[in-house]
Amino acid sequence: MTTPDMAPGALWGGRAPAAPPPTGVLTPQPSGALPGASGSLPGTPPQPPAALTGGRSPLGGAATRGGRFTPEAARQDIPILQRPVNGRPVIWLDNGATTQTPRQVIETLASYYATANSNIHRGAHTLAREATDLYEGGRAAVADFLGAPSPDTVVLTRGTTEAINLVAQTWGRANLGPGDEILVSALEHHSNIVPWQMIAKERRARVVPIPLLPDGGVDQEAYASLLSHRTQLVAISHASNVLGTVPPVREMTALAHRYGARVLVDGAQAVAHFPVDVQQLGADFYAFSAHKLYGPTGVGALYGKPEVLAAMPPWQGGGNMIDKVDFDHVTFAPVPHRFEAGTGHIAGVVGLKPAIDWLTSFDHEAVAAYESALLHYAEQALATVPGLEVLGTTPDKIAVMTFTLAGNDPMDIARWLDQAGIAIRAGHHCAQPSLRHYGLESAARASLALYNTAEEVDELVAALHQLQAQGAGHGG
Ligand code: PLP
Repeated sequence: MTTPDMAPGALWGGRAPAAPPPTGVLTPQPSGALPGASGSLPGTPPQPPAALTGGRSPLGGAATRGGRFTPEAARQDIPILQRPVNGRPVIWLDNGATTQTPRQVIETLASYYATANSNIHRGAHTLAREATDLYEGGRAAVADFLGAPSPDTVVLTRGTTEAINLVAQTWGRANLGPGDEILVSALEHHSNIVPWQMIAKERRARVVPIPLLPDGGVDQEAYASLLSHRTQLVAISHASNVLGTVPPVREMTALAHRYGARVLVDGAQAVAHFPVDVQQLGADFYAFSAHKLYGPTGVGALYGKPEVLAAMPPWQGGGNMIDKVDFDHVTFAPVPHRFEAGTGHIAGVVGLKPAIDWLTSFDHEAVAAYESALLHYAEQALATVPGLEVLGTTPDKIAVMTFTLAGNDPMDIARWLDQAGIAIRAGHHCAQPSLRHYGLESAARASLALYNTAEEVDELVAALHQLQAQGAGHGG
């Protein structure tokens, strides 16, 4: 079993990093322990875990960090950033796909399985009660994090995709009818397009795209003119995973409400980058995934306004979501349990709390300012690469740079960079309409997180210069 005080090297055969890290990148820790790991798990008697049962993780959190933010402090907590890839310390610029995990989360997951693992709710024994408290603690942490009025407004899901499908299949089936319209911006991820197409087809409603402007912004004039009393729902990203665009969601929501439409906000890319307050936004639904927020995979959340959730029928049927079952009658559990059929990713929910604690332990303003400065630095540096073009240039954007490089297939760019230990993504980024806006089917994407550094950006840019120089040398 991989335990928190197992050396990171154990996961790839114990090889030591083959090359010294570039300037500005943390020196790998001596093998044998994750940096700062408490090492308290293996061999300790199975006590109710302090790391789990306390409020904030004792391994990090505002109480110990005091809100100070530096990328170096953040890096100290991320063991995987010390592993080599192709002989070089990994440079993780694929944060839009998934963020890397702080040891506080890793340790909580291991600690949960080592000391508290149980199924939840209705348990008559100690571990069931502890696991239930931890799971519900995860829900409460999400509610706090999103500024939701209560934990009961938070449904725990497998992630953003499941959250949106849940709304489409319950709210959508109950509220959409022939001729109704769902406005969906053209910058959405497929998970905020396809569930609407599926339910629209079934209910004979229509999905209407909200067009984009040349800079990747959502065309607000077109949006205003598309809204009508046929509009039942507006589905909009809080931040685009391809263009980085941060649309004016609060204003768009207020406008939609004038027509009596509901608004679902896809927060998958937003939550790691800036503070979110669902009540200030006025959103009817807000969805995100833990793994893009420094948390575990396979878990996420859906916020819904209390009155909206209360009126929604259940989706999947099974254990956990019922009150009484007989063959001729069934009654359902109250919200939010009504929407959580079966055994969920309990450990994942437990691990989501330290992820939120970790992120919120840093000063928000400082993180946002740092990411914005790093984005500007990176954009300027990328502009020096011959033939490179960045898509998405709205003034309000998260640190996502999707680009094309003349003469190079995006997949070849990603493979080239991988040889230097640099991870970026190439392809359609599950948002084909937003790429087609630029006449493209595929592009490369570097996406930054709070632990990335200017030195890492320099490495990226140097490798891209080399690629272009090599192409020129070959007459390409
Ligand atoms: N929405 C956006 C904007 C995304 O970037 C992603 C994932 O990349 C998703 C939704 C889907 O997230 P998940 O696969 O975690 O459900």
